[in-house]
Amino acid sequence: MLQYISKFMANLSVALLVGGCSGTAQTIDNPPLSEYRGLYTPSNTQEVQSAMHTNHPDYDWGLWGHNLKKAVADNLTDDMYAIVDGKRNPKQFCFSSAALYDAVRNYIIDQYGSGDETYSERISIMPMDNQLACTCSQCKGKGNSPGNATPAVTEFVTRLAQEFPLHQFFTSAYHTTKQAPSAALPANVGVFISSIPLPVQVDFTQSKGYREFQSMVAAWKKKCPRIYVWDYERNFDDYLSPFPCLLAMQSRLQLYSKLGILGVFFNGSGDDYSAFDDMQTHVLARLMDNPNLNVKDAVADYFQQNYPITAPILLKYYWGLEERIRTTNRELPLYGTMAQMNRIYLNASEFVAFRRQLDAASKQTMGEERHRLNALLTSLAYTQLEMYRCGLLPKDADMAAEMKEILKGHSEIKGMVNRDETGHTIAKYLEQWK
Ligand SMILES: [Zn+2]
Repeated sequence: MLQYISKFMANLSVALLVGGCSGTAQTIDNPPLSEYRGLYTPSNTQEVQSAMHTNHPDYDWGLWGHNLKKAVADNLTDDMYAIVDGKRNPKQFCFSSAALYDAVRNYIIDQYGSGDETYSERISIMPMDNQLACTCSQCKGKGNSPGNATPAVTEFVTRLAQEFPLHQFFTSAYHTTKQAPSAALPANVGVFISSIPLPVQVDFTQSKGYREFQSMVAAWKKKCPRIYVWDYERNFDDYLSPFPCLLAMQSRLQLYSKLGILGVFFNGSGDDYSAFDDMQTHVLARLMDNPNLNVKDAVADYFQQNYPITAPILLKYYWGLEERIRTTNRELPLYGTMAQMNRIYLNASEFVAFRRQLDAASKQTMGEERHRLNALLTSLAYTQLEMYRCGLLPKDADMAAEMKEILKGHSEIKGMVNRDETGHTIAKYLEQWK
C-alpha cells in the first residue's frame, strides 16, 4: 500500500512538473487547490464560473457562512441562545441546545433531504460573528470557556455529520472557534480557517501572524484534514480605488498549497463594483490553478485581451503599484483610508496623471473596452475626489466639480451603488461632498 502511494506521488510529481492546466510548469511544492475555488466578487459571474471553474458562495452552498440564524429564524426560541456572563444572550447560540439541533436538523431535511450518491450539499455551521461563547452548564461540561466555543460547536457539527453522512459540513476557525477540537472530526466535516492573522504583504514570513496561522493549521489538521482558508482581497472601506493585492495573494496561495490546504474562499466586494476587479478576479482564478504563475504576464494577458487599445497604460500603472508593494513589502490595509493608501502605495500626482491619460485614450476605444473604461474612470473619479477631500491634492474647485460630474454617472453602471462594505452609497457621498 505504501509503495503504491509513493509510486502514485512520483507520477503526480512528474505530471505536475510537466505542466499544470495553465501551461506553466509547476512543482509538487505548490499543487493547485483541488476542492474549492471561491470568489465573492462582481466579476465572478456564472459565465466566468464555468469558463474558469471557480466557485461562488451564492450558488454552491446549502447554508453559507454565519447564516445559521436565517435557517432557524421561524423557530427561534429563547433556549437556543447562549448563556454569557450568567445571562441569556440573543447575540450568540448555545450549541448544546436540543431545540437548536432539532431546528437545524429539520431545516436540512426540508431543504435538502439526506442526499444520495449523486447529490450532496455543503452546509456551514458557524457561531454568530462575534467573540461570545456559551458557558451554560452543558457547554461548560463539554469544555467551553469564555472566548472558546470549539467544544460545543464541534460536538454539534459532529452529530449532524453522523446523522447526514452524505452531506458536507463546514465549521470555522475564527473568533471563539480558533482552538482546534480535542477529538478527530468525521470525514464529511471541513473547517474554514480565517487568514486574518496573516498580514497582507508579499513577504509575511517575519510576522507573528504567520507563526500563529501556521500553528492553527497544524493543530486543526490533526483533527480535520479538510481545511479551506477564508481569505480577503479588498479594502473593505473603499471598493472604488486601486488595491494592488495580487502579489500578496500569490504568496498566500503558495503557502496554502504548501500546507496542503484544499480550498480557498476570497472575500471581495460581493456584488458591488470595485476598481480592476475584472482583471483581479481573472488572475486570482488562474493563481488558484497555479500559485507559481507569472503574475505580471497574467495581468498583461488580461489587459491585452479586454482592453486592446489602453492595455499599455493600464499595465504600466497597475503593475507599478504591485511593484511598489513588493519592493517596500508594506502591508495592505483591509480597512484603510485614502490617507493610509497614500502612505502605503498610492501617489496622488502619479494617480492624477494616469487617470488623465486613461481618460484621453478611452476616447479612441469602442464597444466592450469603452464600456469597461467608462466604469473604471467613474470609479477612479471617486479616488480623485477623496484625494482632494483629504488634502492629498491641492484645492482645485474646477477639477473637483468635473470629478463629481463623472461620478454622478455611477447610477448608469451595473453594480456601482456602494463605496464600501458597510453600504455607504455613492449617491449620499455626492450629496455630502464639499
Ligand atoms: Zn450552552
